[in-house]
Amino acid sequence: MFKKLYIKTYGCQMNVYDSDRMKDVLKPLGYSPCDSPEDADMVILNTCHIREKAAEKVYSELGRLNKIKNNKIGQGLEMILAVAGCVAQAESEEMLRRAPFVDLVFGPQAYHNLPEMIARVSRAKGSVLNTDFPTQAKFDYLPEVMVGKEGIEGASAFLTIQEGCDKFCAFCVVPYTRGAEFSRPAADILVETKRLVDLGVKEVTLLGQNVNSYHGMGTGGIEWGLGRLIREVAEVDGIERIRYMTSYPADMDEELISAHGEIEALMPFLHLPVQSGSDKVLKAMNRRHGADQYRQIVERLEKVRSDIALSSDFIVGFPGESDTDFENTMKLVKEVGFIQAYSFKYSPRPGTPAASLDNQVHETVKTERLKILQHELNKQQLAFNESCVGRNMPVLLDRPGRIKGQIVGRTPYMQPVHISAPEHFLGTIVHPYIEVAKANSLAGSLQITEQSKNVA
Ligand code: SAM
Repeated sequence: MFKKLYIKTYGCQMNVYDSDRMKDVLKPLGYSPCDSPEDADMVILNTCHIREKAAEKVYSELGRLNKIKNNKIGQGLEMILAVAGCVAQAESEEMLRRAPFVDLVFGPQAYHNLPEMIARVSRAKGSVLNTDFPTQAKFDYLPEVMVGKEGIEGASAFLTIQEGCDKFCAFCVVPYTRGAEFSRPAADILVETKRLVDLGVKEVTLLGQNVNSYHGMGTGGIEWGLGRLIREVAEVDGIERIRYMTSYPADMDEELISAHGEIEALMPFLHLPVQSGSDKVLKAMNRRHGADQYRQIVERLEKVRSDIALSSDFIVGFPGESDTDFENTMKLVKEVGFIQAYSFKYSPRPGTPAASLDNQVHETVKTERLKILQHELNKQQLAFNESCVGRNMPVLLDRPGRIKGQIVGRTPYMQPVHISAPEHFLGTIVHPYIEVAKANSLAGSLQITEQSKNVA
């Protein structure tokens, strides 16, 4: 029987990957994706708990969905309403109490059990809760990748290689919602990479909460680090670009750094969250690196790959952050230079150590600091984009643009580039001449000749 599935995904790329895998799990049950909850037989909210008000947003969305569900029931139809991801994990029973009309609540490590959970919902006509961290990895039970990819479409795909976190940064909920660090065996990752290539993928982004603490079993019976894994992924015929995120600075080992100098397919762009430029704040955050250690990692990377560029995450207003601490963050930003970044006001997350500290920074101070930081980061991003004008850059064309005849792709540095080109260029790497730089994107032009359609 054909059924429609609507998934709304919040948060990080790992959630995007998980949502795609949920579609894979549900496909054999007859579910195919649709674009609106009104059309759906099953709705899944795949939630994120990283910052404030996440749970409240989910409850208000659930209220809206409950009305749709009731309308359907009024018409003699059914709709399974499910909440997945980190809010589901953190709220668990509380969610069934506050929103008893929800049929399924399951955490990020339990979605391989969806068929069984759906069967239990249909049989029991009650809610099902599954927020265990199973000892056996869900990956052992997932079917092979089938569905098209969300987010970056077509030629580019995400592949989760590592899950969970053992770092316990004082601000972060991830160790509590995603569980302990787990690395998938290399053989499984290589099989999945080949499968993605068969589906038309040319660029793979290896994902993990701390992807560079990857230590999976290698094919020769010894553990591999991320550097070694990337070398093997690069050998898969058809893979032209490799990325990885998100990394933890203290886990940037020599093998991984040298991989940047030696593997052509490894893109010269790295997302390496530093959070703060103050050693005092980094220590209070329970980060296992200082500001100078971060600077040294960047220097080592630049030594092996001179065209490497960085992006980062920053938190301003962590408890106890003084003006001097914030100035140290600004100093680091100006010294290192980032071509893109995510910056946030510290938001106390219930159950994390920093939430109960009594030296919380006042909201107005946080707002002011964030404004100053973002002004500098935006300036750096625009300057980098402008430095690309007048160059021919390799662009993997991966989706149609909003305007007819336009295609969008990404440079090695993840900048979106808009060009005019025929649709059959989708999925190829071309080298447009960059003519325009904006805050968040570039525009270029392509001489459509066989020479310029250089599939690198
Ligand atoms: N692996 C990365 C690292 O180096 O720690 C962490 C990725 S974390 C899942 C995503 C980002 O969300 C963090 O880098 C941090 O900047 C931000 N974040 C996490 N918890 C936060 C909080 N309580 N308040 C504000 N931002 C937070």
